[in-house]
Amino acid sequence: MNVYDSELVASILKTAGYEQSLNIHKAEVLFVNTCAIREKAVERVINKMHQYAHLKVKKGKVKVAGILGCIPQYSSERLKKELPFIDILSGPDNYDKLPQMINDCLKSKKMQEKLVLDKEQNYEDILPFTENKHSVFVTVMRGCNNYCSYCVVPYVRGRERSRSVKSILTEVKNAVSNGVTEVNLLGQNVNSYSSEGMNFAQLLNKVSEVEGLKRLRFATSHPKDISDELIQVMAVNPKVCKHLHLPFQAGSNEVLKRMNRGYTREEYLSNIEKIRKIIPDIAITTDIIVGFPDESDEDFEQTLDVMRRSGFDNSFMFIYSERELTHAKKNFRDNVPKKVKAERQKKVIELQKSLSIEQIGRDAGKTKVVLVESVSKKRKSELMGRTEQNRIVIFEKTNEVAEGDYVNVLITRAEGLSLFGKIVNNGEGSK
Ligand code: SAH
Ligand code: SF4
Repeated sequence: MNVYDSELVASILKTAGYEQSLNIHKAEVLFVNTCAIREKAVERVINKMHQYAHLKVKKGKVKVAGILGCIPQYSSERLKKELPFIDILSGPDNYDKLPQMINDCLKSKKMQEKLVLDKEQNYEDILPFTENKHSVFVTVMRGCNNYCSYCVVPYVRGRERSRSVKSILTEVKNAVSNGVTEVNLLGQNVNSYSSEGMNFAQLLNKVSEVEGLKRLRFATSHPKDISDELIQVMAVNPKVCKHLHLPFQAGSNEVLKRMNRGYTREEYLSNIEKIRKIIPDIAITTDIIVGFPDESDEDFEQTLDVMRRSGFDNSFMFIYSERELTHAKKNFRDNVPKKVKAERQKKVIELQKSLSIEQIGRDAGKTKVVLVESVSKKRKSELMGRTEQNRIVIFEKTNEVAEGDYVNVLITRAEGLSLFGKIVNNGEGSK
């Protein structure tokens, strides 16, 4: 979501006459876009800004330095205290004011701050600035109304609102006309998308009609709101990729209740069963939090149990991080010792490793259509791409194949989180 927001900021500044610089030593305005979801992210941003400080303070090349997004919205006072050289703080709903803020800052030499949550702000008419991309993000809704007890998102990104179908379609068509073939629709809970009488399943069908678009992905689905209609669309619409990110967070009903997630482990597991029955070749990924207040060993065992029963392709596995403003901070004690949290995280990571190998290993011997993304990080002679299940595939580079191509790859083996294979013919794969 922040990648997308940064592209919005780049677009707003471009319209105001600025040019994007990919070389930090050449930039005169420096913005860092930020996430406040866990304390670690906040610390990382503060450290990064300390590293950048000399560009402004000593070298003077940078005239204006700003921090954007959720961290200013979450704790502007801390940023002002720890990073006194910062000129601009802007929350996620105030990016359209940035050109004015830069001007005001240069004129007055005073710090500028805009941290107003605006429930109408959808940046409807701004096309994000992207270059040379084959796959893009398109935010379809902003904010969140769910108030999971651990989560700061509803406080820093405000109330949930859906973008109009028209502006989403304009953006997707524009991206496709610039060479994009894969679009990722984004929202904190896409299942509650609603605009002009259209729900998310219907929006997927509508967007899939854009000519030239080959792959359509989305995130995130909230387990309490996933509908049969959406599962059907995933099953029958050939452009909608068979990958579902369905965060379960914790396996114990007690913990789920205190997290205010709105579903039980049984409901989650029966959803998984249903989805796998209807879409046998689907890949499911998830998010997990370990060490939530009062999480006992028995509770944690239930998390491992849900993982085993669900067969996730991959998981994002987090240690609980207490956030200001949240229900959990106000009402529960962050009482699972650090060491226990770390041990639990290690256990889920280990279990996930074996589940990943089991899941992705099933592709061995199959021929998969792969969208070529880039040269492999490990070996320059190899390319990296993804299947519609979002599984990473590594294969040998040939002169005929370029980034953005769809190629047929015969999968020969699975190792860690990656599949390895070879191109079997150069005919364009369909998806
Ligand atoms: N809207 C999405 C999640 C957005 S945040 C959803 O509900 O699925 C991404 C992930 O960060 C969450 O799924 C959760 O696993 C994690 N997360 C959020 N708040 C957290 C906190 N306080 N501590 C640790 N992890 C957290
Ligand atoms: Fe946070 Fe819950 Fe909203 Fe996801 S659904 S952003 S975890 S409050």
